[in-house]
Amino acid sequence: MLDVCLLGSGGMMPLPYRWLTALMARTGGSSLLIDCGEGTQIAIKEKGWSFKPIDVICFTHYHGDHISGLPGLLLTMGNADRREPLTLIGPKGLERVVNSLRVIAPELPFSIYFLEIEGAQQIFEMNGYRLKAFRVNHNVLCYGYTLEIDRVGKFDVERAREQEIPQKYWNPLQKGESVEVKGRILTPDMVLGPPRKGIKLTYTTDTRPTDSIRENAKGSDLFICEGMYGEKDKAAKAVEYKHMTFYEAAQLAKEAQVKEMWLTHYSPSLTRPEEYMDEVRKIFPEAKAGKDRMSTELVFE
Ligand SMILES: [Zn+2]
Ligand SMILES: [Zn+2]
Repeated sequence: MLDVCLLGSGGMMPLPYRWLTALMARTGGSSLLIDCGEGTQIAIKEKGWSFKPIDVICFTHYHGDHISGLPGLLLTMGNADRREPLTLIGPKGLERVVNSLRVIAPELPFSIYFLEIEGAQQIFEMNGYRLKAFRVNHNVLCYGYTLEIDRVGKFDVERAREQEIPQKYWNPLQKGESVEVKGRILTPDMVLGPPRKGIKLTYTTDTRPTDSIRENAKGSDLFICEGMYGEKDKAAKAVEYKHMTFYEAAQLAKEAQVKEMWLTHYSPSLTRPEEYMDEVRKIFPEAKAGKDRMSTELVFE
C-alpha cells in the first residue's frame, strides 16, 4: 500500500490558502518527500503526518519554490532529535545547493547522504520501492519521478507440494527470496505465478510536455502533473516559461494511459482551477484539480 498526499498545489509562492507543490508518500513505515518549498513543513503539520519517518527527500529542481523550505524542515527534524540518516536525491549540484542552504542549519544530529542523479534517467531501489528519476524540460535542469512497488506472482501451493518443497521455505520464496536446502537451490519462480500488477505513482512539475513523461508515466495509478495555467490564452506563456496548461497535462495523461491525474503547481493568479475542469475532462475524463492535502491510498488490485 502507498499512502499519497499532495501537500500543496501552488507554484512560485505560497499563498494564504495554498501551499507550494510537494508530495509525501508513505509505505511500510518509511516516508518520502518530493520537493520542499517555503511552508512545506507547515503543510505536513496541517496534514497531521509525522516528520520522523521521512528518510528520503527528492528534488525536481533547484528553483526556490521547490527547495527553499529545506533548511527549516531539517532544523525541525533536528529539534525532534532525529538520529537516523537522511537521504537526499536531486539533479546535479545537490550537495552544493543543500550545503549552501545549510549555512543557517549547520548542526544537525543526523547525517545526510547525497545521491546526485546522473544522466537522463536513474533508478534508485530502496525501502521496498523503486524510484526512477527522468529528465524533463524546464528552464533549469529538472527531473520527474516515478515510484513503483512491485507485486510478485501468486503462490502456487500445488506446485510447491509437487516439487516437495518443505512448508517452512514457502514464506521466503513467496517474498521473492531464494533458499538453499541441502545443496538444492529453491528459487521463487519454482512456486510463483507471473508477476502481478503493482503500484505506480508519477510526479512531474515545472516542465513542458515531454516524451520522457509520456513513457515513464505509462500505466500509472496516479499521475500528478503540473498545470500552471487554465486559461487557454496562456498557452504561449506556458511555452515561454517552460510550464504546461491544464490541457497539455490532460493530453499527456491520456497518451500515458494513466488511471487518474491530479493537476498542481497553479499560477498564483489562478484562483479557481475548478472552473476549467469541464474542458480538461473532455480530453482526459479522470482529471482532478489538485487541492492542498488531497490524499489517496494506492493498493494492489
Ligand atoms: Zn515551481
Ligand atoms: Zn521551476
